[in-house]
Amino acid sequence: MKFLLPPIAATLFLACTVGASTVTKPNLVIILTDDQGYADVGFNGCTDIPTPHIDSIADLGGRFSNGYVTHPVCGPSRAALLTGRYQGRFGFNTNPSVDPDNPDVGIPHDQKNIAEVLSKVGYTSAVIGKWHMGSHPDHHPLSRGFDYFFGFLTGGHRYLPGELTLNDLSEVKQDWEWYKTRIMENRERVDIDDYLTDALTDAGVRFIRRAAQSDKPFMLYLAYNAPHTPLQATEKYLSRFRDIRDENRRIYAAMVSAVDDGVGRVLETLRDLGLEDNTIVAFLSDNGGARNNASRNTPLRGFKSDFFDGGLRVPFAMMWPGVIPPGLQYDKPVISLDLLGTIAGVTGAGIDPERPLDGVNLIPYLTGEQDGAPHQALYWRAPGPNQMATRKGELKLVANRDRLKDTYQLFDLGEDIAEQNDLQPERQDAKTELLEAWEAWNSELKPQPFPALGDVWWR
Ligand code: CA
Repeated sequence: MKFLLPPIAATLFLACTVGASTVTKPNLVIILTDDQGYADVGFNGCTDIPTPHIDSIADLGGRFSNGYVTHPVCGPSRAALLTGRYQGRFGFNTNPSVDPDNPDVGIPHDQKNIAEVLSKVGYTSAVIGKWHMGSHPDHHPLSRGFDYFFGFLTGGHRYLPGELTLNDLSEVKQDWEWYKTRIMENRERVDIDDYLTDALTDAGVRFIRRAAQSDKPFMLYLAYNAPHTPLQATEKYLSRFRDIRDENRRIYAAMVSAVDDGVGRVLETLRDLGLEDNTIVAFLSDNGGARNNASRNTPLRGFKSDFFDGGLRVPFAMMWPGVIPPGLQYDKPVISLDLLGTIAGVTGAGIDPERPLDGVNLIPYLTGEQDGAPHQALYWRAPGPNQMATRKGELKLVANRDRLKDTYQLFDLGEDIAEQNDLQPERQDAKTELLEAWEAWNSELKPQPFPALGDVWWR
């Protein structure tokens, strides 16, 4: 594939291909949505919710048709994205408890997250939006390598500023009231007067503008909680979808549309500042669409919390103008772990040899410099004996529930993307091979060092 390289991008392209001794430091913007369905972006065929700005990432770069996350619910998926390691390696196996008094709730301190890794090579980093990696002060983003935080510590939040009535977590009296806390800027509580999705976009744009004034490269982790429940949107966005008759789908569409506007403003800011060619922008959802937010994962089977691909395969695109060929469709399996793998590979950031990344640098695969698949196999596990999955090539072995009751199913995703035609017991050889590889991986995982969401109450 031939394409013209702008001068700056051409330099970057050469810099990252001439060997390990020559590195470059592009900015990195990771835009993560929450519970957005595989089918709910234009580049995956969505027709009732226009997403032109999200689609432009795929147009200017690549779309991953087989882009995965490591877990079908929020917390574990994010722990892996942030560390580049399967979260089970450090026991982050479930959504964590909301417990600001427990210093064990979060990513263990011996595991380095993307901000901690990039700070060693001179990056300024921000997390804007949903943190969900612990609410104890020791796990606050500013205690974990980030230079700026604007958002909330817990796993979800209300969107309308009038509903943010609690000053902080100490005022929570019952489950889910943590969705009503005031927003945090760094370690302070602040008031917002906009729809939360818009306020997060504003904060992201402000951060980019500030960072652009410095010589240091930056990393922005823009973690929208939209379109996670509660389904809430403002008239500005709802008015775009009068023709959607299902009320939940209409609100969901408005929430996705607000994110799309936000993505557009982020991309426009990068363009205005002359940073577009020197910035990698990735877009993905933290897990598949949920049953309770009117999302769609078609043609995939299942939803959030399932180990079918509807829970695990997400809308996923990445651009780096002049390096990733525009309009690329990349079909080999990739996973959220590869975001840290990619930026570490590009920058030469050091990785603890005792805690190697599971993610890989995708750039050589996307440019065609390297053949083959980035991963020999991908693996998933939920706590206890309940759920497992592994994919090698097109074959996927999955026990969506009751693994110990031998409920395995084997699918060929190349011919059966909807996971309808169970190939075993006829393919016992393949089942045995995949299960043995999964058991070896599973034996390396650790027990969870903190209580799961709902396990404790801390008042
Ligand atoms: Ca989620």
